[in-house]
Amino acid sequence: MIEFQHVFKSYGQGKNILADINFRIDVGEFLFVSGPSGAGKSTLLKLIGALEPPSRGSVTIKGQRTDRLSARALPYLRRAVGVILQDTHLLYDRNAFHNVMLPLAVMGLNSAQAANRARAAMEKVGLSGKEDFYPVELSGGEQQRLAIARAIVNRPAILIADEPTANLDQESARRIMDVFRDFNRVGVTTLIASHDRALMAGYATRTLLVEPGRFTDIAGVRA
Ligand code: ADP
Ligand code: ADP
Repeated sequence: MIEFQHVFKSYGQGKNILADINFRIDVGEFLFVSGPSGAGKSTLLKLIGALEPPSRGSVTIKGQRTDRLSARALPYLRRAVGVILQDTHLLYDRNAFHNVMLPLAVMGLNSAQAANRARAAMEKVGLSGKEDFYPVELSGGEQQRLAIARAIVNRPAILIADEPTANLDQESARRIMDVFRDFNRVGVTTLIASHDRALMAGYATRTLLVEPGRFTDIAGVRA
């Protein structure tokens, strides 16, 4: 499902953030991406989401090398990956429902189909009834769940999230993780970058540890 072969990544003329990274992830795995700030966790997730190309080596997602895709094919691959970045990129001048509808605009669905999908996505993250709320009217945890609803409305096979529980209380954080677990249980391959090892221990079964100059693939989460 996801394969890195001798992947190097640097930005511009800078030094390698990631160097000679190799791993394979199977369909339906739940991974924890761990490591100190600035080590390259977000970079790793962006390579998987085809938001950044590798500087060297190959990243293969669902059988397709991200560096060999045409400009036309790239958006299709990106749609296979639901991305929740640290900045949720919610649109603050649109209500929750229209935020979730946004990715569907390019899908060629009629408005009833799109609305049904958006409603289903909001229901899956526990936001039914909040359709008319603007993002600022939602709590931090609800905003994060709205970002998840928008990320999954296209039914991606892979879900990646960068620190989705940062700044949330324990209960909201668990609620977010339960949402990811529910998607993972129906077969969505899930990768979560987090600093909260104890929280992740209840969900992930494998850790990709990204440290400066070092990458380690670990079975399980050591609390
Ligand atoms: P983490 O998610 O582990 O905090 P990042 O992947 O965000 O790490 O960043 C790894 C390193 O790459 C940092 O030194 C960061 O400053 C640098 N970096 C990240 N994105 C860019 C970018 N777009 N351009 C230049 N440098 C970047
Ligand atoms: P647009 O503003 O893009 O024309 P509409 O507001 O007409 O979109 O909504 C398109 C579809 O989404 C309609 O089927 C509508 O019933 C549904 N919809 C819009 N807003 C909401 C909402 N807050 N809650 C539930 N369904 C909504």
